[in-house]
Amino acid sequence: MCYNSTKLEARQTYLLAQIGHSTAVKMENNRHNIIHPLCEIYQEIYGSKITMANLNELASDLSQLAGRTRPWTGKFLHSLIKGYPGFTTNGQLSQALNILSGRLNGLDEAQAQLKEVTVSAVNDLPAETVILGQAHRCATPGCRVLFVPTHPRQKYHSKTCAKIERRRKQY
Ligand SMILES: [Zn+2]
Repeated sequence: MCYNSTKLEARQTYLLAQIGHSTAVKMENNRHNIIHPLCEIYQEIYGSKITMANLNELASDLSQLAGRTRPWTGKFLHSLIKGYPGFTTNGQLSQALNILSGRLNGLDEAQAQLKEVTVSAVNDLPAETVILGQAHRCATPGCRVLFVPTHPRQKYHSKTCAKIERRRKQY
């Protein structure tokens, strides 16, 4: 009995120590939570050299993503990176960082999926242009043309095809 209660106490002390420890770790992590992804994203976009011009650009991009009326400044990001005391942030910045990092990953994915194909272009299409839109088959029966639409609801590849369909539907 006595042995058991001692064991229980020891177990409780151990658990308390664990909780205390993990809270301390969490608080420490929160401070670094933002700095690490911030530095990582900065490096991915601009490389390892930190300049105020780049920080201003990044701050403006992040502010736009977060929809802030009072945008963050490059100076603020710089203070965060340097870990100056008194510079803290809420979840808004880490959310904007997440979105931005998702976009960067999306671009990497798109880059990895690139296939070279032969295309015909109406507008100027410089060599190596990456086309992100998807090809649609023209909706006019008999027209076999595949095209990348200029707007999401475009059904026909040309004005002529649209006219043909309009006329066909009238009869
Ligand atoms: Zn067509």
